[in-house]
Amino acid sequence: MACLLRVARNPTFERSTVASKRQDPETIPSFHCKASSFRTKTMSQSSAPGEKLKRKRREKKAEEEEEEEEEEPIGGDIEDLFSDKETQKIRMSLLDWYDANQRDLPWRKRKNESEKERRAYEVWVSEIMLQQTRVQTVLEYYKRWMHKWPTIYDLAQASLEEVNEMWAGLGYYRRGRFLLEGAKMVVAGKDGFPNQVSSLMKVKGIGEYTAGAIASIAFNEAVPVVDGNVIRVLARLKAISANPKDRLTARNFWKLAAQLVDPSRPGDFNQSLMELGATLCTVSKPSCSSCPVSSQCRAYSLSLENRTISVTNYPTKVVKAKPRCDFCSVCVLEILNLERNQSGGRFVLVKRPEEGLLAGLWEFPSVILDKEAGLATRRNAINLYLKDAFQVEPKKTCTIVSRKELGEFVHIFTHIRRKVYVELLVVQLTGGTDNLFKNQANDTLTWKCVGSDALSTMGLTSAVRKVNSMVKAHKQGSSVAPDSSNRAAISRKRRI
Ligand code: SF4
Repeated sequence: MACLLRVARNPTFERSTVASKRQDPETIPSFHCKASSFRTKTMSQSSAPGEKLKRKRREKKAEEEEEEEEEEPIGGDIEDLFSDKETQKIRMSLLDWYDANQRDLPWRKRKNESEKERRAYEVWVSEIMLQQTRVQTVLEYYKRWMHKWPTIYDLAQASLEEVNEMWAGLGYYRRGRFLLEGAKMVVAGKDGFPNQVSSLMKVKGIGEYTAGAIASIAFNEAVPVVDGNVIRVLARLKAISANPKDRLTARNFWKLAAQLVDPSRPGDFNQSLMELGATLCTVSKPSCSSCPVSSQCRAYSLSLENRTISVTNYPTKVVKAKPRCDFCSVCVLEILNLERNQSGGRFVLVKRPEEGLLAGLWEFPSVILDKEAGLATRRNAINLYLKDAFQVEPKKTCTIVSRKELGEFVHIFTHIRRKVYVELLVVQLTGGTDNLFKNQANDTLTWKCVGSDALSTMGLTSAVRKVNSMVKAHKQGSSVAPDSSNRAAISRKRRI
């Protein structure tokens, strides 16, 4: 069958000459090999050199885009700074408003002079988390993180696996990894916690925005920060209609923010600007009538003069690139061990490579498909994968107890729209578990078998959690409601 099917571990891990070392899934909780090269020359066109190269470029680009760090502002001049009078007025108004209205957030708790480094660590963790999602979501993650690693020294002792587990569900997992690597760097250094933007930016994972936040909030350095909230407020204050993603315009926002930052209270001022953007000067419903800087706001003044102008025209909305689509077939492999009289089976989890997208995270066995494929093609791909990876082969090493499609859903990454097909394959091993996963030829895969209880409690990505929910719902005889964040279209299918 001519097909464009590309068999790969989800999403860039391609099938190859992997075999599995002997492992008793009951007694050995995890098995570690080199997981980074599960590749195959699979089917037809995908193995052509030109196609391969294109695909690699596409995947690399997607990874870079998906896990992109903060934009670095570059080049250009600005003609329209704030006047001294405007600057003074904005500083005063914003700081007064912030003092009276700031939200009570755990990372804002002030520390005494001797605890500046502790504050810097807290600001660092919170700022990285806040780049992922809303404050409300971050609060829980932040509390759990600080409970487990209250200081940078505690974090530096952690393993990547622990960090990944803690980060599970936040997305952009590379940022969690960089926090760990950055903490190790700082602790290993001789100079203590870097306390200026220039030295902070040498730490892994700290870009100009995070460095500015730490330096101004924890160490009182008069430097600006520019995030999405700040851009929105500045664009409205100055009625800037240029594309904020444009490098020249981006640099101008940094210049404006640098001009405004209050030299005596830089941390509070930066937070006040961000707080205004997060609470009053919001994307679609700004509360201009309650805004402390409305009298300095050019967009507001224009909107009062001309009813066809809205403050929400600023900043210019940038049309997002259409996400690319791909398809993924997930096989939840449940192994029954009747010899040991267990009620439920154990599930195989595979560890992703330590580099690239979702590095080092656990997932169910899966293959990536270049295009939408029918059931037979998907199963064929999964069968090949399971045979190569685990020597699970019907009629030879195992008996299929049941095999059911559980449905499908769409998972949205930043730049990828992934349709995920899910099936549950329950097998009993021929000759018992001793015959499982034997004679692994090379050490290229890390995997483990876990019970359903462990699955429910371990840190898993949101897509893997969704798959697990489908399995649980299936076992309980119910269906899973689609996840609103991803508009999952989960459909039950007939037993086959
Ligand atoms: S007046 Fe309105 S648009 Fe201008 S900064 Fe305040 S909330 Fe934003």
